[in-house]
Amino acid sequence: MPIDEKFVENLEVVGKTLHADGEHFHFIWGKGRTDGEAFSNDDVKAAYEARGEKQVPLGIHGTTVAVDWDSCVAAGSCMSVCPVQTFQWYRTEQDVPAADVIGKTFEGTGLTEQDERLDYTDKSMPIREHDCTQCMACQEACPTHAILIEPSYQSYHEKAAGTFVALKGGSENPHAHD
Ligand code: SF4
Repeated sequence: MPIDEKFVENLEVVGKTLHADGEHFHFIWGKGRTDGEAFSNDDVKAAYEARGEKQVPLGIHGTTVAVDWDSCVAAGSCMSVCPVQTFQWYRTEQDVPAADVIGKTFEGTGLTEQDERLDYTDKSMPIREHDCTQCMACQEACPTHAILIEPSYQSYHEKAAGTFVALKGGSENPHAHD
């Protein structure tokens, strides 16, 4: 099932993952779902079993570069096409359960090549969401349609970050920062 294109309306920010540069972070939208491809993919299921780790809903990571971790099957297609290394295999930097990346700080030193996943429980983390050039290549390449590139969702990022600015004299405009 593809990523929900209206996730900013249908889901809520449940946390964020911070970049060690002290400036950037990306939000996590939850609470996730169990009908994504990751829950029916044999490689992913086997990898969780091999670890003895329970597979749980993980939600969508990122806002303008949004990766549905419940659909991500660690194919790595996004990594192979991204010209600016927006994504990293999160487990190659911190090998923790995916649900535990909420509130954590990452250096951005994780591996970024298609086949460098630690195993199939690994996920594509948009650690450099802020560097995205909106070329759309990852969205087109993802075999499970787990990625949505939507620059206009920057307003939702800013709103969630507490920097959202309402239009003068009017109600909040969700596209004020388009
Ligand atoms: S849209 Fe292009 S630049 Fe942005 S994350 Fe995807 S592949 Fe990288």
